[in-house]
Amino acid sequence: MVSPRARVCIAGAGLAGATLACALDERWDVTLVDPSAGPGDTSGYRIHLTTPAVDVLSATLPPRLWRELRGAGEDERALRTFAVLDARLRARIVLPVDDGPALLVARPRLREVLAQEAGAVRWGTRVTAWAADGDGVTVSFSDGRSDRFDLLVAADGTGSSVARPLRGGATCRPVDVVAIAGTAGVDVDAVAGWGGPRAASPLLTGPAFALGPDGLGAFLTLDRSRPDRPELLWSIAAAPRHFGADLRGATGAELRTEAVRRLRGWAAPLRDLVAASDPDGVASFPFWAPSEDWVRSAGRVAVLGDAVHPMPATGGVGGSTAIRDAGGLARALRETESLPEAVPEAVERAYAEMLGYAPAAVAESLAPLTWQRRLRGRVPTAATLGAVSLAGRAAALLRRS
Ligand SMILES: Cc1cc2nc3c(=O)[nH]c(=O)nc-3n(C[C@H](O)[C@H](O)[C@H](O)COP(=O)(O)OP(=O)(O)OC[C@H]3O[C@@H](n4cnc5c(N)ncnc54)[C@H](O)[C@@H]3O)c2cc1C
Repeated sequence: MVSPRARVCIAGAGLAGATLACALDERWDVTLVDPSAGPGDTSGYRIHLTTPAVDVLSATLPPRLWRELRGAGEDERALRTFAVLDARLRARIVLPVDDGPALLVARPRLREVLAQEAGAVRWGTRVTAWAADGDGVTVSFSDGRSDRFDLLVAADGTGSSVARPLRGGATCRPVDVVAIAGTAGVDVDAVAGWGGPRAASPLLTGPAFALGPDGLGAFLTLDRSRPDRPELLWSIAAAPRHFGADLRGATGAELRTEAVRRLRGWAAPLRDLVAASDPDGVASFPFWAPSEDWVRSAGRVAVLGDAVHPMPATGGVGGSTAIRDAGGLARALRETESLPEAVPEAVERAYAEMLGYAPAAVAESLAPLTWQRRLRGRVPTAATLGAVSLAGRAAALLRRS
């Protein structure tokens, strides 16, 4: 007799949820729901994935889809350095990045590929409530249905409403920094000359974090995935009080105007590019960190990705960490012979494994904000950066250099 498959409900077809749906083995009957209209209905920035995430995706996706994803991505040689610039875009520190295979790919494309492999996704549907007991979880959906599962996975991103009952309160806290981000078409030869004639701009070999006066920080990276249409991805970040207006509810054009205003005194080519950005692609978002005591996966409810460890985009590792979480939970469940009885134990093991790497990713993402706060008006150097933060990826790179 064929035993019935264990049932899982995954709330959220973002990077964590969709990866998990792809990675579960055939013993699982997967219900994947997401309130967005479809896989393309998501933020359109390019994402950098680190080696652990690349390992999960290459082991999870069928070879054809993996090849397709790699083909759609940018040459990983685009990520050879990480630089710290000043407001004139002069390179102050250029550190080699040698982290192993990486993938630079448009986030909507990644989500489409994952959704393709994940099977039927119930788009336009959210999880609205759940109640767990020793045997399973009863989950209610926004379309009025409710159903019974062996496992519920909260992969619903920053501020997770699905995970909230596990903690009895908010799952994240604001870090008092807000960003405005956008993209602009760019002439790569012109970018090479940014910062002076002595050497080509390090933006040709990787992303850069620029520190300006007045506590403003900027993240800049070139996207050459479409050689005929290279773009500069830019974002500026500061405490909300440093922006002239409340950014909530502002239109893309208003945000762009505010970004140009805040970049007064910065290098003119950057200000000009920001001013030329497509207003429809300009957005603002606040930065979040996990709540003081992280929400815990428990029993038959697992929490993955930004739902458990939201982090500022400054580290560029939130998505990689979310994918790694999904890979870890799928592995823990695969190693479990007695489904569905042993689900809580597998959930516990995956959570413990996550605590081994995710806190470092959060610290890495918060480190540049510390630099920004403490270095107001000072020129960034290896010594000053090293002195204000020992946490984080760039600080780790500083130590290694
Ligand atoms: C500008 C920017 C640049 C970034 N660059 C990088 C980068 O280079 N590298 C990197 O690793 N990370 C990067 N990140 C971070 C990365 O995008 C996130 O960490 C990642 O998307 C988190 O994945 P997730 O699956 O946890 O959450 P999400 O991708 O946010 O997915 C959550 C999903 O849950 C759905 N949902 C919400 N509520 C419910 C509900 N009640 N029921 C069901 N579904 C629900 C949402 O619709 C959404 O699709 C960047 C972020 C930003 C903003």
